Amino acid sequence: MEQKQESIQQAKDNQFIYVKDSEIHGKGVYTAKDIAKGTKVIEYVGEKISKEEGSKREKIQEEISKQNNLKGAVYIFELNDKYDIDGNFEYNTARLINHSCDPNCEIEIIQDRIWIIAIKDIKTDEEITFNYSFDFDEDYKYHPCKCGSKNCVGYILDEDHWEKLKASS
Ligand SMILES: [Zn+2]
Repeated sequence: MEQKQESIQQAKDNQFIYVKDSEIHGKGVYTAKDIAKGTKVIEYVGEKISKEEGSKREKIQEEISKQNNLKGAVYIFELNDKYDIDGNFEYNTARLINHSCDPNCEIEIIQDRIWIIAIKDIKTDEEITFNYSFDFDEDYKYHPCKCGSKNCVGYILDEDHWEKLKASS
């Protein structure tokens, strides 16, 4: 089930952002203008799928990501108890947003839409980042972090797991 065409078009026409090569990883998403804290920067759009389909695709994307050494190239997002969003589509510019241990945005789900929201004032031409909130499991070593922030923990991990990481190393 595709999401509403309107959402997809809005994401394509988004005036807040542009894409260029990132110093963190691959391509990144940058601000085209100053953005105030609290702004809905861009929606994470894609295909709305069942949880079951979501975990199936997540596994496939993880495998491909490992084989091709694409760090954390998994695009399944939890929308609610019933549905996930698969954002692995070219029109979903938000899929290019990199993880950071010191992000300037976060994910918020508002009325069944996934938004990337500014959590601080962001100046023009800054890279947009959020914490991917990965679990601390046997796979964490496949997702090293090169965000370059002062507090970088070295891996893409939810902040809830940072203590565990420190304890285990
Ligand atoms: Zn980092």
